[in-house]
Amino acid sequence: LKILADRHVCIGAGMCALTAPAVFDQDSDAGLVLVLDETPNGAAEVAAREAISLCPSGALTALDN
Ligand code: SF4
Repeated sequence: LKILADRHVCIGAGMCALTAPAVFDQDSDAGLVLVLDETPNGAAEVAAREAISLCPSGALTALDN
């Protein structure tokens, strides 16, 4: 899994950071997504895939190798 995050599309809803806190965070001013781990493995990858599916804005994309 490789994660692409578009901070111009992100609305700061925070679902990603709640669902996969090892992979996503939000910046402290606008609350926009920060990717902590662009290539998660194991449990973090599973959580990241769920977070990507839950993102309400479509800001997150999963690229599979
Ligand atoms: S869930 Fe989507 S819209 Fe919400 S902070 Fe994460 S990337 Fe942004």
